[in-house]
Amino acid sequence: MENVVFIAPPAAGKGTHSNSLKEKYGYIHISTGDLLRSEISKETEIGKEVKAVMDAGNLVSDDIIIKLLEDNLKNIIGKPFVLDGFPRTLNQAQKLTEIFNKMNIGYEVIFLSIAQEEAMKRTLGRVVCNCGKTYNIYEETLKPKVEGICDVCGSKLVKRDDDNEESFKIRFNTFLKNNEPILDYYKGLNKLNIVNVNRDRKFVFEDVEEVINDNY
Ligand code: AMP
Repeated sequence: MENVVFIAPPAAGKGTHSNSLKEKYGYIHISTGDLLRSEISKETEIGKEVKAVMDAGNLVSDDIIIKLLEDNLKNIIGKPFVLDGFPRTLNQAQKLTEIFNKMNIGYEVIFLSIAQEEAMKRTLGRVVCNCGKTYNIYEETLKPKVEGICDVCGSKLVKRDDDNEESFKIRFNTFLKNNEPILDYYKGLNKLNIVNVNRDRKFVFEDVEEVINDNY
């Protein structure tokens, strides 16, 4: 199976589809947002540095995120993985190509395209678990079985600190600003696959599966 790099605005379903790839095919899910949140909860130097930046909806510095990602990729050599939340700048995309070339890693990029109003609604309804599972209280098929409790591990579900309207708008606008050069870059490398997510999640995932199977 081909490794996947998901590119998408906030709440387009990167986490949900990454999770489905993990459950159905055994992919390892690398979310740069989760890596950073883990640094924050462990109160590391990096965590202290990035907390306010993340809560405000801004991007953390390329240096920090590239180093975190590179260290993580070294731990999973040879296993199929899905990268969620990276790259978010053209510089990160170019750096990622260097890293993949150096480590001899093949991949396909999947852009999840979503309308802003829909992404906002999903952001405000999102609740997450420490174990990585994500739910949405506004979507029947994504609600937890018991309100506020994770179906998988039974822990209490929480809202992310940055899932509010103000932070969403900053994150979405940052995405729009940075995204075009990234998509052009991957189009040029012949790696870009576009999947429209403004429809039933089942069909979206089928398109994702087509990409990972066709390109392998
Ligand atoms: P996410 O969980 O992907 O929505 O990311 C949450 C936050 O983590 C973002 O709003 C950024 O502040 C930070 N972040 C995650 N990935 C990156 C990245 N590749 N570059 C810069 N900041 C990032």
